[in-house]
Formats: sequence, C-alpha cells, structure tokens
Amino acid sequence: MDKTFLMVKPDGVQRGLIGEIVKRFEQKGFQLIGSKLTMVSREQAEFHYAEHEGKDFYERLVNFITSGPVFAMVWQGDQVIPLSRTLIGKTNSLEAAPGTIRGDYAVHTNFNLIHGSDSPESAEREIGNFFKEDEILAYTKIIQQWI
Ligand code: ADP
Ligand code: MG
Repeated sequence: MDKTFLMVKPDGVQRGLIGEIVKRFEQKGFQLIGSKLTMVSREQAEFHYAEHEGKDFYERLVNFITSGPVFAMVWQGDQVIPLSRTLIGKTNSLEAAPGTIRGDYAVHTNFNLIHGSDSPESAEREIGNFFKEDEILAYTKIIQQWI
C-alpha cells in the first residue's frame, strides 16, 4: 500500500488547524498509520529540505520549520502521494486553488501550513527522518465493528 509523509508546519499548529487538516485526509478515505507532535531538529530539517539547499529561501525555511512544534504524520492509501498533493494545493499561495488546504487557509508561500511528499522515494526518506519502524501501525480498518 502507498504511504506518504505529511506534516502540519509550525504555522498550522499555531493556528489550530491540525484537526481541520487531519479531517480532510480522513474524509478522503486515507488511513492514518503514524503521528506525533514534535519539534524538528536542525539536522532533521536540513535532511528533510536537502533538495532546497543553496536556494534563496532555504535558511528562512529551515528556521521556520524548526521554530515550533509540527504535527508529523504517515498516511496510507491507494495513490496517497499524488492525491495528497492535490488536496494540499500549489506551493505558491497565489496559485493554490480554493478547496485545497493552502488555497483555503494560506496567504503566503512562506507560511503554507503543510508539507506532503512528492514521490515514493521522498516519502520513504522523509518517513525515516521522523519515525521509527515501530511507530507506524499497519492496522486493518474494521469499520463495521464500531458503528
Ligand atoms: P512543496 O512544499 O509544495 O513541496 P517545495 O518542495 O518546492 O514545495 O518547497 C518547500 C517549501 O519551501 C514550500 O512549501 C515553501 O514553504 C518553501 N518555498 C518554496 N518555494 C519558495 C519560494 N519561491 N519562496 C519562498 N518559499 C518557498
Ligand atoms: Mg516539496
């Protein structure tokens, strides 16, 4: 089953949007299989954003992501990587469509609320950067039993 790494960034935590964001992925039909409220260390941030090292926004980005708690998550589901990116919306806040998380709640690209992996390779390294294997629970959904 496909897995992705999603993270409510410090602005989303501060603005009280964890629940709203989690709700959207749950309602889409994806399964939450790991989560934690955590601070991101400088080392974790540099590993997470290695592809952006040297860009003009890199220092600001690393400072931002380490500035306060984030809500890190692992989600599972068919096509969860591209579909999460669709639910999240475009990186540039001016282009993020209404109905997407960024389109509905983010004003500026610097504070765009959420990260989502962009490929299976990114997902694997990003999950490994934040979660130990035993922190991910591949449980079966037994919906009927609880209704
Ligand atoms: P995404 O988060 O949509 O995958 P990127 O991987 O390209 O986007 O960039 C990582 C993060 O860096 C973005 O979410 C955003 O917070 C920040 N960022 C990207 N491009 C810019 C930019 N041109 N100006 C300011 N911040 C940027
Ligand atoms: Mg990215």
